[in-house]
Amino acid sequence: MSWIALQPSDPLLDRARNGDAAALEQLLVSIAPAVHRFGLRMCGSDSDAQDVLQETLISIATHVSRFEGKSALSSWVFALARNACIKKRRGRKNQQHLGQKAIEAQSASASSPEQRAENRELWEVLTRALDGLPEQYREAVVLRDIEGLSAAQAAGALGISVDALKSRLHRAREALRKELMPLLEPRAPAPSAQCPDMATLWSRKLEGDLDKQDCAEIEKHVAECPACGAICDALKKALLACQSSATAEIRPEVQAQVKAAMRALTGLGGT
Ligand SMILES: [Zn+2]
Repeated sequence: MSWIALQPSDPLLDRARNGDAAALEQLLVSIAPAVHRFGLRMCGSDSDAQDVLQETLISIATHVSRFEGKSALSSWVFALARNACIKKRRGRKNQQHLGQKAIEAQSASASSPEQRAENRELWEVLTRALDGLPEQYREAVVLRDIEGLSAAQAAGALGISVDALKSRLHRAREALRKELMPLLEPRAPAPSAQCPDMATLWSRKLEGDLDKQDCAEIEKHVAECPACGAICDALKKALLACQSSATAEIRPEVQAQVKAAMRALTGLGGT
């Protein structure tokens, strides 16, 4: 089970809260890759992502005993990671993103050379598209579609309402869909003047925000309209690419950061 689904009452979390070092380490090991990916996507360079990971892990280790579970664990963790990112970025004029590392890690995990090449192209376009998004949209899509938080958990991490989160999410997804469309649905016809804003509608449908009748109408239109059908297919594929970009293997330096956080905790007088 992903750590994102851990309930505040989960025994592992409970043991970590009560000073069980093995439980804390297990928790940090499961959390670290997601925080590292968040750092890579959100805060600039590989070394910044390492620093953000380190700071976040140490914050978790030192404050987990006071984590009461008023918010979801994922909201708490990503809020810490986000603060660490903001601190890193502050005062730096030129923000550049380093999605390259993320692409390399991801395409390396594909099975065949052909698939690797195909994945690589998709991930390159996806990474460029993500990097081109305004930060507010990017963090919404990273948390919801890449790391798999619920809308409520992602809103909690960002300190915004669920409605605001969803509105950023719809725009972010539409922007990604547009960028990836030539690659994913190269022969798609253009939508007609009667076509609705299908990507946004479909995104709202995915968030469970449309009633039954609206859903039925959309599905009917999509079934009859090749242009909107292609838009929905491209959106689905783009979201799948987002999801699969979170399953890359754990890199050794991420493991090392967990060990360092545990050592720092010991140094601070923990168990
Ligand atoms: Zn249409």
